[in-house]
Amino acid sequence: MKRRLFTPGPTPLPEEVRLSQAREIIHHRTGEFKRILEEVEERLKYVFRTDNEVLLFTSSGTGAMEAAVANLFSPGDEVLVVRGGKFGERWAEIAQAFGMKAVPLDIGWGRALDPAKVGNKIQKRPKIKAVLTQLVETSTGTLYDIEALGKILSETGAVLVVDAISGLCAQPLCTDGWGVDVVIASSQKALVTPPGLAFITISEKAWKLVENSTSPKYYWDFKKARNDLAKLQTPYTPAISLVVALRDSLRLIEKEGLEKVAKRHSRLAQATRKAVLAINLEILGDSPSNVLTSVVLPSKINGEKLRELMQARFGVQVAGGQGSLSGKIIRIAHLGWMDASDIIVVISALEMSLLELGYPVQLGRGLKAAQEILGGRRLS
Ligand SMILES: *Cc1c(COP(=O)(O)O)cnc(C)c1O
Repeated sequence: MKRRLFTPGPTPLPEEVRLSQAREIIHHRTGEFKRILEEVEERLKYVFRTDNEVLLFTSSGTGAMEAAVANLFSPGDEVLVVRGGKFGERWAEIAQAFGMKAVPLDIGWGRALDPAKVGNKIQKRPKIKAVLTQLVETSTGTLYDIEALGKILSETGAVLVVDAISGLCAQPLCTDGWGVDVVIASSQKALVTPPGLAFITISEKAWKLVENSTSPKYYWDFKKARNDLAKLQTPYTPAISLVVALRDSLRLIEKEGLEKVAKRHSRLAQATRKAVLAINLEILGDSPSNVLTSVVLPSKINGEKLRELMQARFGVQVAGGQGSLSGKIIRIAHLGWMDASDIIVVISALEMSLLELGYPVQLGRGLKAAQEILGGRRLS
């Protein structure tokens, strides 16, 4: 059976990227690797929309989140954490693990972020050094208004740190233009590369925090990484074959164009939402993103059973709910190397599987709604 991934990381890989993994390994202390790193760096600046360097680490996305905390802050520092799902909670856990005081802003799972509330909190507690948040909170699929938040925080002393791990390329994000100080991403989401690389950009305002941080770090030292990057090197052995794969995926993204990539994501997301509503199911939250659609299931349908059935019958792998949403939602990612036909496949599998589990679906209703968004317009 063919495998079809609709998960918010890892995501399906383009053929060019898969084939790049079959090449012979090269050594990283060579001119050849320097040229690859130079190209990757230029192209990463393009997708991050920044003039600052993009540091590269061999790790999953969480590694770069931890690196940000260890490099920006010192024990006892206060940071504000937007908690609207599992990844917001992760920020608080990491900050606490490093001895910082994580002040939570609990907004409720699936709820949009009100940037003015963050501004108020910062005004009341001027000791807060930074706001840690997501571009898209992947546990619910909720998009946060980072542009408005950037505007508010650039007038304060606080630094804005955004985990854009799932959102980068799927949503518009102007790192420099919006005044976002730190942006984090990883390879296995919309950057359509296997898991194992994480990226981070740091503004001048944020580098000042790095200069003063007393937290322990060694492998994750930003200053060391920046010095080496200036010489087109990495301090330690990078995941060489992944860097080569990333170069190939970044070429594909640039060929399509960043704006078009985000627009494609937007259209696929819209089609998915229309389809879900057409089969009388609800969508979680009030700010759905281009990354994934969280489908609220009727109480009689168990999310884990539904996922297993979609996988077993149709080779369609979707994600489940996390935390208290476990079993109650499924998350359909339309992230990365995806097109209209992928949405047809996943909606079709959803309809057939729901019917098999006893939910009264009129087959084709969701499909029709998706098709109307995805094309199929009559040419006159
Ligand atoms: C995927 C993801 C992460 C990181 O997960 P890893 O498994 O460490 O790569 C962090 N934040 C968000 C919002 C994510 O979507």
